[in-house]
Amino acid sequence: MKKIIVQKFGGTSVADTEKIKNVAKVVIREKEKGNDVVVVVSAMGHTTDHLVKMAKTLTPNPSSREMDMLLSTGECVSIALLTMAIQALGYDAISFNAMQVGIMTENIHSKARIVDIRTEKLRKNLEEGKIIVVAGFQGVTADGEITTLGRGGSDTSAVALAAALNAERCDIYTDVEGVYTTDPRIVPNASKLDEVSYEEMLELTHAGANVLHPRSVETAKQFGVLMRVRSSFKLEDMGTLIVGVDKMELYRPVAGVAADLSQARIVVCDVPDKPGVAASLFTALANENISVDMIIQSYARKVSNTNDIAFTVDASDLAKTMTVLDKLKNEIGASDVKVDDEIAKVSIVGAGMIDRPGIASTMFETLARLGVNIKMISTSEIKISCLVEKADAQKSLKGLHTVFNLESDIMADVKGDLPDV
Ligand code: ADP
Ligand code: ASP
Ligand code: MG
Repeated sequence: MKKIIVQKFGGTSVADTEKIKNVAKVVIREKEKGNDVVVVVSAMGHTTDHLVKMAKTLTPNPSSREMDMLLSTGECVSIALLTMAIQALGYDAISFNAMQVGIMTENIHSKARIVDIRTEKLRKNLEEGKIIVVAGFQGVTADGEITTLGRGGSDTSAVALAAALNAERCDIYTDVEGVYTTDPRIVPNASKLDEVSYEEMLELTHAGANVLHPRSVETAKQFGVLMRVRSSFKLEDMGTLIVGVDKMELYRPVAGVAADLSQARIVVCDVPDKPGVAASLFTALANENISVDMIIQSYARKVSNTNDIAFTVDASDLAKTMTVLDKLKNEIGASDVKVDDEIAKVSIVGAGMIDRPGIASTMFETLARLGVNIKMISTSEIKISCLVEKADAQKSLKGLHTVFNLESDIMADVKGDLPDV
């Protein structure tokens, strides 16, 4: 049986018909190696952003069902055009939207999870020698409703297809040469990583490195899909492989840094210090599908026997969160709810920080030297995040990138020799 390679091309890679012709050549190159090829594409250029803007001119709160109907159209345009471009070069190709394939999702609009992918149609067409082009980002529920997977979700469509088809590899083609120590558009001397572990990549994406959709990494880890991030325009560059942590040399404590500017902080003030308050609060949010990121509950004040609960949510969930809190505020006895959306989360990530003391203090000292005030801190085994003022995000990111020796020229010197942090 032939090997199956899944290739995914993002918006920039298919921004115009010239670029689509380039993608067609990249697809054919893989087919010519003797592999079966399944291609996943995003909407052209900034199509999705334009569609969102159009909807917002009609109503500030468009229904999420209609938003999915609207946004899913972007990918339908690219699959048809790319398939035509491949056919024009003399190859047999066919496009499918999510409903035609059977990319089944939960019944949640705007951030649905894939629950199953039907593979019969795909296998049949591959056996007939066709190149298959599938619409990313979209899914369908058991009731035939169109859903989308969340912004950037085409990466997840590709990895899920690779898992379902037991593909050899899932190549994510984008506009940078791979995964870097931080966003190379913000820190130009960021260095490209040849390898990064699923665990680190997952933390980096949750920390704001939007080069991959977080769920694509989660799915790849769960199903052991070998993933590679590489450039659509510089094919000689092998990009970044995402591998199991056991396969990596952990010579560096920090693999990358990231900033997330799309969060908002909420403080629920003076709630009674008694069992059940946090449960009521976070259950109510979970019931509305609102994901909470950092959470801090302050030490109880002795006289009033109350404390404050602060947490962060994605800014796009802020309006929904406030609706929930308006209803809940009196029930849980809070005196006030405060919102701060001028914040950013800056994080350092690295599997090499496990059992290595001093990494957190280096991070805090660096921010202190830069005059950056830390509003909240959260940690995992391989990540430390600090919430700071949005205006401080860029200098924090640059400072941390330098202090942990992640710059491209320095990186070459320290390979194999642990930087002293
Ligand atoms: P696509 O349209 O191909 O899905 P995206 O815009 O979603 O592309 O992702 C690629 C972008 O991710 C890059 O242009 C880069 O600015 C950004 N990015 C953020 N963090 C990183 C990182 N650590 N490594 C590489 N790129 C990053
Ligand atoms: N077109 C969608 C978006 O812009 C999905 C994707 O690009 O992955 O978010
Ligand atoms: Mg993307």
